[in-house]
Amino acid sequence: MPLTVFDHDNLAYYESVADPKGPHQLGGDAGELGITFRRIKNVVHLVGVLTVGDPAVSFIPQAFTWLPLCYGFRFASNGKDFQYTVESDTSIRILPDTTFSDVGIFERIRWGGLTFILRLAGLIKYDHGHQYDPDFPYAGHPDTFSKSKFRFERQPYDPENAEDALKLQGVFGLKHLSNGEMQRAIKIGLSNNGYVSDPEDYDDMGWTDQEKVEILGRSPFYQTAPSTTCDNPKCPSDRYEDTAKVIALHEPDDDVVWGDAYVQMIYTLCDRCNCINVTNQCT
Ligand SMILES: [Zn+2]
Repeated sequence: MPLTVFDHDNLAYYESVADPKGPHQLGGDAGELGITFRRIKNVVHLVGVLTVGDPAVSFIPQAFTWLPLCYGFRFASNGKDFQYTVESDTSIRILPDTTFSDVGIFERIRWGGLTFILRLAGLIKYDHGHQYDPDFPYAGHPDTFSKSKFRFERQPYDPENAEDALKLQGVFGLKHLSNGEMQRAIKIGLSNNGYVSDPEDYDDMGWTDQEKVEILGRSPFYQTAPSTTCDNPKCPSDRYEDTAKVIALHEPDDDVVWGDAYVQMIYTLCDRCNCINVTNQCT
């Protein structure tokens, strides 16, 4: 039951421990909790429910008593992010699968001391309804996962220590390292121990060793650190603001959600619009 949550205010992280009397829940039936999913026809899975009152989940927006961790597993078969907002304890609004094209949709320009965001193209919309594979992630997967209770235990982490900072670079970054620890982090990061992705492949980029570690370091994520900007079209943030933070990471253990595949599920929360964005990465 390896669910990890991250406290960005205190630079701390917690891991789940099975506990029948624990305050949080993995799996279960959203209907049993009275949760309804709006704007969606297909099954949305309840991965877990985090309950307020635990310092580990202080990121839960005020006014909520719990925060459901959801995922449209079938929708993931079309390779898109899954986004939702929690409107109340019992109402979750799935956002349209709206994305921006890969190339410069928005351009930031400066004129007369002012900054303008120039919109170069419109939104590209995808319809959840007909672009999913009902057998994804595996044939016959259930509409709900078995329910179990758990609590969180704080894990040792020192953001000023090179090894610790590298281990969670994709979440908290390396900005708390002293010059001396940064030099150690560079040495460790470039020694092929899994913290930095194939730095030798980027030798012709002209990057310094520190830039290689800062740009290519991605731990604890398999592929890359998730986006820190919010894609909710109605978010009041501008498109370049870092408003989305990783709040939770689910990795498989003995709980089956992805079948045999080793998949990370990553939850980010926008602190401006409370939109939750869910992505998955595989080994
Ligand atoms: Zn937002």
